[in-house]
Amino acid sequence: MSSISLKQIGLFKEHMANNGVHFSRCYHCRCCGNGCPFLPAFDFAPNTIIRLLQFNLINEALESTTIWACVGCNTCSMECPMLIDIAGLMDGLRQLALATGVPPAEPDILSFHQAVMDSISKYGRTNKLDIMIRYKLKTRTWLQDWQVGLKMLAKRKLDIFASKVRDPALINTLLNTDKK
Ligand code: SF4
Ligand code: SF4
Repeated sequence: MSSISLKQIGLFKEHMANNGVHFSRCYHCRCCGNGCPFLPAFDFAPNTIIRLLQFNLINEALESTTIWACVGCNTCSMECPMLIDIAGLMDGLRQLALATGVPPAEPDILSFHQAVMDSISKYGRTNKLDIMIRYKLKTRTWLQDWQVGLKMLAKRKLDIFASKVRDPALINTLLNTDKK
């Protein structure tokens, strides 16, 4: 199990604050969790994740299913009376988990994220069929959701021939800007 030092916790809090995410303001009214459409998939409610961070229990937050099951819909951030960007915080926690080698509690979700990013990198836009194939190759869940795939094909929601933007390299430049 990877362990985060107090210094790394301090740096993470500073980084979040610099990006306008002031989670120390949270007074646990629970408005965020009440509006979250994915709460049943979480092990900790969003405000519980914040409570863990307030007590410097960041490893528990990084090992949670919550940070991976969150889809970043922003409903919580819109509901928060203290204007805390909870979706941004979840994003920051996912990045910290990857950077510090904490294994994702939901590895298939990470595989899906990677499949989407790889597809955008190749075509400059998402291609659902390409994403599905990449995801299946990563997870080897060949038969899972096959009915959905057939329905999408029948409704022409999966393009057999992928379209591309004129210059996918430009999109890659944008995607890599944060890494520099
Ligand atoms: S809505 Fe905001 S203040 Fe209320 S519990 Fe959630 S994060 Fe905290
Ligand atoms: S951004 Fe994440 S935590 Fe917030 S409401 Fe959406 S799914 Fe829930």
